[in-house]
Amino acid sequence: MYHRVGDSENDWERRYCVTPKRFAQHMHMLHSKGYRPCGIEQFAQWVGGTAALPSGSFLLTFDDGFEGVYEHARPVLLKLGWTASVFLVTQLIGQEDVWDELNNPSSRRHRLLDRMQIAEMVGEGFSFHSHSRHHLDLTTLSDAQLEEELLGSRRDIEDLLERPTPYLAYPFGRHDSRVQKAAHAAGYVAAFSTKPGFNRPGQERFSILRLDVAGTDSAGVLGRKMALGSNIGSIGAMARYTIGRVCHRLGLGYS
Ligand SMILES: [Zn+2]
Repeated sequence: MYHRVGDSENDWERRYCVTPKRFAQHMHMLHSKGYRPCGIEQFAQWVGGTAALPSGSFLLTFDDGFEGVYEHARPVLLKLGWTASVFLVTQLIGQEDVWDELNNPSSRRHRLLDRMQIAEMVGEGFSFHSHSRHHLDLTTLSDAQLEEELLGSRRDIEDLLERPTPYLAYPFGRHDSRVQKAAHAAGYVAAFSTKPGFNRPGQERFSILRLDVAGTDSAGVLGRKMALGSNIGSIGAMARYTIGRVCHRLGLGYS
């Protein structure tokens, strides 16, 4: 799970924003290790147990639909013959990330993809899905507001792409059982959380797991996160994992 690709001004931004150079290093590392991105439909079928995926498959997602995905990530991906799935805030297309203004210490706003850029990317094989209408914490909304954010954004995507999307990413990753039920009722078949871990066939479809890629993650850290299925990609975490596996194989108790 990536958010913005571009330059960052402070530590808060570096948490969610990867520089173009670093993004390219990440993708080239994944490519060289034999990882290959799959489409979101293939991924959903695999989770549902109706399709197989080659080993090394991963799903590449971008939340929020920042312009940097078009400007910086897209050229790197296209060179590799890769695409990605992007979750759009459907009432802010072509505008800015107003929801983060109060969270960002420098109150800086960033441009979001516009309709022309989205149309071009659809033609190149990128897919676009819902990140709600206004990027609100869905768990705080009334039932009526919740329906407006979930069903409304599905309709917005349908207006934009001439087909509705069955996939949602929860804004801020925030969800509870009421939000999950509302997403199901609004016609989604799967929703992406920000909880880390490996997905498996049979994974709860309204709580799909994702690994968080921070702007401070080197390609090495990302590689370890991918190997461990964890948001902790330190060398120590990898060492503990390796020691644990060796001890398990030797029949020694180590956890
Ligand atoms: Zn978001």
